[in-house]
Amino acid sequence: MDGPSGSGKSSVSRGVARALGLRYLDTGAMYRAMTWWMLRHEIDLGDPGAIAARCGEPVIVSGTDPDGPAIHVDGVDVAGPIRETEVTGAVSAVAAVPEVRARLVAMQQEIIGSGDIVVEGRDIGSVVAPDAPVKLYLTASAHARAARRTAELAGTTVEAQKAAMARRDTLDSTRKTDPLSVAAGAIELDTSDLTLDEVIAEVLSVIKERT
Ligand code: C5P
Repeated sequence: MDGPSGSGKSSVSRGVARALGLRYLDTGAMYRAMTWWMLRHEIDLGDPGAIAARCGEPVIVSGTDPDGPAIHVDGVDVAGPIRETEVTGAVSAVAAVPEVRARLVAMQQEIIGSGDIVVEGRDIGSVVAPDAPVKLYLTASAHARAARRTAELAGTTVEAQKAAMARRDTLDSTRKTDPLSVAAGAIELDTSDLTLDEVIAEVLSVIKERT
């Protein structure tokens, strides 16, 4: 399941995994965890070489329970801190570094290799799991995406979220390594005018048809 932030990927992926009794992996949380570690170690995030030199160090452990996806870095539970503004503002720079992607993609493929799973991210259908039996690309209008994110976060506005998302979208879709894109064979679903339950129902019917 790929798509930009606010497209509904997380809620939909978790709902689908729950409905089918499958595991769930949030790959964005892994890039966020890497970024949290880099910030904590005061690595210069304007220097891709410095990021590349240190990205093998953090021990990142991702849970796969859709009811409570856990994420730890060096034994610290970072599920809360990785959602903070500082990490969100810095993650695209870290995720653009090829050495970071090589390490995290290998970890993701190892987790995927141990059984059926719903995986969400930006490059899952194109790079991480090109042979996935079902590939989806969720989109939504800029307004719908910003409105969703604003409802989740305290102290922000739709306009501020729209600007922050536009910046992150540009960075994520124009980077050289594994940019956000619609994978070959992916089904695109615009979630702007659909409820969460409607999107989950649609995805479940696509999965039933395809598998
Ligand atoms: O999905 P989420 O918004 O938590 O992802 C955070 C960031 O991690 C994205 O903006 C993107 O830069 C990066 N990411 C990525 N590839 C993935 C998942 C996330 O580059 N598969």
